[in-house]
Amino acid sequence: MFYFVQRFFGKIIRLFGGNFSGTPEELEQVLGREENACYARLIEQTFQFEQVPDSGDYWVADYHMHIHGTGRNAGVDLFCPAIPLCPPGVLLTGKRFNWLRHPFLYLQTKVFLSASGIENVCFGDAEYLQRLYRQIEHFPVHNDTHGNPVRFRFFVFAMAPFRDRDTGDVNFDKTDICVDSDYVISVADCFNRKLEMAGIPHRVVPVISVHPYRKDAEKELVRLGNRVAAQGHDEILVKWLPPSMGIDPETVRSSYYETMAEQGMVLVSHTGKEHSAISDKECQEFGNPLKLCKALEARSAGGKQLKVIMAHSGRKGVNFDDAGKRVSSYELFRKMMATGDYRGRLFGDMSAIPYMATEHILRDIAIGNLGLEGRMLNGSDYPVPAGHIIKPTRHLYKMKLISRQQKKALDLVYRYNPLLFDFVMKRMLHFAGQQVPLPDSAFLSMTSFGRE
Ligand SMILES: [Zn+2]
Repeated sequence: MFYFVQRFFGKIIRLFGGNFSGTPEELEQVLGREENACYARLIEQTFQFEQVPDSGDYWVADYHMHIHGTGRNAGVDLFCPAIPLCPPGVLLTGKRFNWLRHPFLYLQTKVFLSASGIENVCFGDAEYLQRLYRQIEHFPVHNDTHGNPVRFRFFVFAMAPFRDRDTGDVNFDKTDICVDSDYVISVADCFNRKLEMAGIPHRVVPVISVHPYRKDAEKELVRLGNRVAAQGHDEILVKWLPPSMGIDPETVRSSYYETMAEQGMVLVSHTGKEHSAISDKECQEFGNPLKLCKALEARSAGGKQLKVIMAHSGRKGVNFDDAGKRVSSYELFRKMMATGDYRGRLFGDMSAIPYMATEHILRDIAIGNLGLEGRMLNGSDYPVPAGHIIKPTRHLYKMKLISRQQKKALDLVYRYNPLLFDFVMKRMLHFAGQQVPLPDSAFLSMTSFGRE
């Protein structure tokens, strides 16, 4: 009896989480079938980049992806022998596994693990890496309109733990998830070696996360930045999730921002309300886009300034404006983007925007009447696109942003490779009566042609 209840519960969770039909490698075979030829063509068309250099010297980028797991790392060394098992790279709060005291959080975690392709909690970290790697390895290599292969850069995040502002010490009670920067650097290195051996041109770029309240934060930035650069990467990003990490960007000491500017680093900071990670209510205001002014105004001794990516572009939630009024975080994001001095240094990412009915923000980017063009970056927020419950294809079809055939193609891709699904979906979207797609520039890396 217990067995059947467990199976039934598992099925329900899969309906909300990872409602997959097969592995990423099977998609190619499925698309090769005659009855699916029109879907294969529609997918291939989304790789047709036009506004790119003839030479093919550019990267398409996904600037927002998570490395996750369960904090149980059995088997990680079998997948990537060079990754040290001790200390473990991922730490997930025990609250998420306590169904008696935190039933809602428990269910949310189950759905999230299912979407991430994790079936056995004890092998959670290894299963997460394997599933993610397979999606990257089997991300198709199609040609652009100039006949050059479209190469991708996938940026994967570390996540610093919560720290108390006064002492600078780690507070594990308030930490939801922590993903070690050195671990992420080793994971990226392992993935890149495998991709190279398999002859796949895509690359994975590690994004470090250094909490600014750490006493030795500046030293740590330099140490980790050097490790990333030593792997040959020319984009060094630092990830913050202020509401969940307890970072008030206005109170961060200037030397932290100056060190980042000196090192040519880019800050990726969450803006708007935080939904997925556990965050104190009083910390939600730390996602206010206006709080990033201090970072944007900091200068190194040599006069260098920082680049900042506002993750999610303030998609959801409300924050205080300068006059103390509560306004939408997206409005504050737009206000910051309109500040002339921040042009060329302030960017927004599109992660999670097509989900949960906030696609009007993408229309603003496509129509290009807000000065956002050339300043928006692609991001999937993987594993978010893998959650079946938030798959937006039906909604997008109803809003007439995709055709019926495109919807069918997308639903098929989701069942095998949700990372590819997110990219293809954004490339298929057309606004203003099916006339205007998102610009090619919104998918290119910051180092590629066409950016200020
Ligand atoms: Zn995210």
